[in-house]
Amino acid sequence: MAEKFEVIIIGGGPGGYVAAIRAAQLGLKTACIDMYVGKDGKASPGGTCLNVGCIPSKALLDSSKHFHHLQHDFGAHGISVSDAGIDVATMIARKDGVVKKLTGGVSQLLKGNKVTFFHGKGQLKSGRQVEITPADGSAAVQLQADHVILAAGSVPIQIPNVEFDGEFIVDNVGALEFESVPETLGVIGAGVIGLELGSVWNRLGSKVTLLEALPDFLAMADRDVARQAAREFKKQKLDIRLGTLVKGAEVKKGKVEVIVEDGKGESRQAFDRLLVSVGRKPYTEGLLAADSGVRLNDRGQIEVNEQSKTTAPGVWAIGDCVRGPMLAHKASEEGIAVAELIAGKPAHIHFDTVPWVVYTDPEIAWVGKTEQELEAAGVDYRSGSFPFAANGRALAGGQGSGLVKMLADAESDEILGVHIFGANASELISECVVAMEFQGSSEDLARIVHAHPTLSEAVHEAALHLDGRAIHRGN
Ligand code: FAD
Ligand code: AMP
Repeated sequence: MAEKFEVIIIGGGPGGYVAAIRAAQLGLKTACIDMYVGKDGKASPGGTCLNVGCIPSKALLDSSKHFHHLQHDFGAHGISVSDAGIDVATMIARKDGVVKKLTGGVSQLLKGNKVTFFHGKGQLKSGRQVEITPADGSAAVQLQADHVILAAGSVPIQIPNVEFDGEFIVDNVGALEFESVPETLGVIGAGVIGLELGSVWNRLGSKVTLLEALPDFLAMADRDVARQAAREFKKQKLDIRLGTLVKGAEVKKGKVEVIVEDGKGESRQAFDRLLVSVGRKPYTEGLLAADSGVRLNDRGQIEVNEQSKTTAPGVWAIGDCVRGPMLAHKASEEGIAVAELIAGKPAHIHFDTVPWVVYTDPEIAWVGKTEQELEAAGVDYRSGSFPFAANGRALAGGQGSGLVKMLADAESDEILGVHIFGANASELISECVVAMEFQGSSEDLARIVHAHPTLSEAVHEAALHLDGRAIHRGN
């Protein structure tokens, strides 16, 4: 007979494993099924984020940042180093160690919370039956649930005529595993993943060219931030070609030849390696039996309402496989909200206050609306900004690039968006998220005491500037 659970979660990424822990905390008998196989051939819960996404990319970004600082920035501090070198194998092994520690930590957390973990592929059938095909090849396991949460995540989008081969033409997985620094690296798509992984190899000495179909750089970011970031990345020798559509690629004599179309027509360019980072799509292969009752929309996402309920009773879906931004923290918060709804508690997520971060150097982070979105919506707003070049702590740390820009409603002064390009933007944005979550005004932030000297004073000054009373810049 099928073992019975109150909640079964299919997928153990930041959506699924967090939902599992919260459901178990709430006293629900919970199972989590994840099929990911780690580099050691064993279960490795944590999904894309921990295995081949957020965490390993940040590990390599940090390693490459140290190498870059050593070569380019230490001299200004009077520190001289000769024969700086990078051992790529050690760097990758360190990254693998970080991943192992964290995925092992997730296993422990699941165990500690009494979540039953299954390593294998789960499929939802009618009436909330779930069939598991175990990763070890043993016989299929049948489970039955009161509630099922689908958290199957996403996979990279492939473009026509550009076939991944895992060696020359790679996705994020391959770009986190290069055995040596490619002399030249082509990156298709100058989005978040392309910029982050392009930055890693650029800092290690690769000549990186980003081929971006759209005419505007980082079109989803605020235009002032995007403009400053483009200028800064150019200085870092990231060659970003806008309005350049990749139409195909072929491997020839150990090089990848890429066919591009831009304003000048069609041409070919050769690279040692090619990273395809043109976005991700929901992963639902084999997830749903024909009679599951769960509907997908025309974008291949699992259709859900505002509470993450699918079209099948008692079946919920969260994270990258549903609508909304493909971000780990969004997936986790949805997981928590669904577990609480299942347990009969009230829960909701404010999608308007989900922060975005691009971990370049400097970092880009924002929350809320961009200036162009407010203009398009006809909102009457006021804007304030502050450059890090006028922030003492930033200058002391050699981090004087970028700005904080704040947008607030012209009448009520409620903060509508904050956009940061600068050191530690990923951390600075939290204060702004909190302020927006509490429907705070720019005046609230302007009156809050910020420690000196800190980068957060730039947020404070942007709030003051919005009202024409910044202290350390002209108004
Ligand atoms: P996933 O993390 O994809 O997890 C889904 C899991 O379900 C996987 O383990 C998968 O194997 C498993 N699964 C799928 N189908 C089944 C099945 N039928 N049965 C059993 N198991 C199944 N986001 C951020 O917020 N910050 C970042 O810095 C960031 N950096 C990124 C860098 C890179 C290079 C990439 C690729 C992504 C990055 N992301 C980042 C995005 C982030 O990884 C995703 O938004 C997040 O992982 C989504 O979580 P999820 O739980 O929905 O899905
Ligand atoms: P993101 O979704 O943030 O990972 O960004 C992916 C980027 O890839 C977007 O900016 C797309 O415009 C870009 N892109 C998609 N297809 C192509 C293509 N064929 N050639 C060049 N860029 C592309």
